[in-house]
Amino acid sequence: MARPLIAVSTAIEELPTAFGATDCTKLTTAYTDALYAVGGQPVILPVIETPPTDLLAHMDGLVLTGGGDIDPTMYGEPPDPTVYGIRPDRDTFEVALYAEALERRIPILAICRGMQLINILRGGSLLQDIGSDHWQSTPSADVSHSVSIDEGSAVAVAVGTCETGVNSYHHQAVGRLGAGLRVTARCGDIVEAFEADDMDLLAIQWHPEQMAASVPTQRALFDSFVQRAAARSRIQEETPCPTT
Ligand code: MN
Repeated sequence: MARPLIAVSTAIEELPTAFGATDCTKLTTAYTDALYAVGGQPVILPVIETPPTDLLAHMDGLVLTGGGDIDPTMYGEPPDPTVYGIRPDRDTFEVALYAEALERRIPILAICRGMQLINILRGGSLLQDIGSDHWQSTPSADVSHSVSIDEGSAVAVAVGTCETGVNSYHHQAVGRLGAGLRVTARCGDIVEAFEADDMDLLAIQWHPEQMAASVPTQRALFDSFVQRAAARSRIQEETPCPTT
């Protein structure tokens, strides 16, 4: 059985290169390491200006990764001064990825910024700045705070517990919850995970990829996601879509 192909979104950032400061594709390797470790084949997708509609034609899963803030005009608000790293081209590209995954019924694992994007696309909003309480200065595999997880949720089933310690690297958080979403993990008032009834979606505010190498329960989030992608891949093989 071939490894399921997992599309992974990336940041686009102007970085110093031999050619001067120029746009580069950027992704921390923890995402791809975590996917490889559980049997997935990551496929890195660079931001392009005009995304075609068949970006995910051969993909079995989609990871929407973390990164800079999303343009607040997407949820109808002027940007707070703390908002950083806005790249409208990345926003547009990932909107296309989400729409296509929805259409093709591809499982999505949305992490940090990815979770915030989906909330916005379903009509929700963000708290533009929650201060520094959820931005740790300790190493990224260390626990920053605990989360309370709803029993029976996909997060609880994957990590095998309803209370677990997670890292924290976000100065924004879910505000108004988007339509059709269910909050499944919280830290006090802060939404730390949500799921959806109408699609295979696991959206997480912390960074499990940074903990996956050392914390088996965090690696389990990638394991369960890749297993669902593999199951979808098998079904596709058995019942190929008619060619049009
Ligand atoms: Mn947090």
